[in-house]
Amino acid sequence: MANIIDGKAISAAIRAEIKEETEAFFGQHGFRPGLAVIIVGEDPASQVYVRNKRRACEEVGFYSEAYELPHNTTQDELNALVDKLNADPAIHGILCQLPLPKHLDENEVILRIDPKKDVDAFHPTNVGRIMIGDYSFLPCTPAGVMALLARSGIEISGKECVVVGRSNIVGKPQAMLLLHANGTVTVCHSRTKNLAEVCRRADILVAAIGKADFFTGDMVKEGAVVIDVGMNRRADGKLTGDVDFESVAPKASYITPVPGGVGPMTITMLMQNTLTAAKESVK
Ligand code: NDP
Repeated sequence: MANIIDGKAISAAIRAEIKEETEAFFGQHGFRPGLAVIIVGEDPASQVYVRNKRRACEEVGFYSEAYELPHNTTQDELNALVDKLNADPAIHGILCQLPLPKHLDENEVILRIDPKKDVDAFHPTNVGRIMIGDYSFLPCTPAGVMALLARSGIEISGKECVVVGRSNIVGKPQAMLLLHANGTVTVCHSRTKNLAEVCRRADILVAAIGKADFFTGDMVKEGAVVIDVGMNRRADGKLTGDVDFESVAPKASYITPVPGGVGPMTITMLMQNTLTAAKESVK
């Protein structure tokens, strides 16, 4: 049976470290890392994320601001808010909760956020910096996966890493980070042929496709490390990953559960990025 990677415990340990560093930063500079979160409209899932981010800020001792804008906010109004936050020295990180209502242009917002405050690492400048391996912050979910691997003592160098999913926020940056850590990386997607066969090559398998319980025991090599990024709602409302835990866990050496694996790490990495942005601002 696999070792369960406890994302909650690892996340709590990292938050405790961030809190300690934040107090030291405050002692030295007299101000706290500041995060501004923007949400447009009344999407209940987004509202939960925003609340959790605010709580996380309190937990680690950050200054935070939340902007809850009405659904009918115009692009100009949103742009004006981003400009104000870009210019505000108390704010080191700006996060605009996606998706935005359809009449607003997400790309325009991503491009408008100052790359130095882009703690989601979605701005093309930051995406490019990740590509060349010279980065300040990393997209939160892939960074969370890397932290889980590191803190579980899992060696990446020379390992066969298979990432399934190629989105801009998870799959692609995940592949790049594993490559920077000297993994031999294969990226799969919906057009990949013989997916099960490719997955069985993996020493480290990262599942990020958004399909409940898709990866079954026959797709996994004996002793593989299996990281489940997926977050799917079952018909009964329960949260489940992309990996069929029952059949995969007996074969894996390490596995992340859902919930309690990658999920708790994402906001923690956002806190890490905000602290990094604050530190960069005083350099
Ligand atoms: P997207 O829908 O943007 O991307 C899904 C990817 O999976 C695409 O590249 C798609 O391929 C690929 N895919 C879909 N079906 C298959 C299949 N049958 N076989 C192989 N590949 C397939 O999703 P995200 O990357 O945004 O998210 C992925 C999952 O991770 C979701 O469950 C999401 O909820 C979760 N997530 C969890 C986070 C966390 O904090 N734990 C944060 C972000 C996401 P193609 O490109 O060919 O269409």
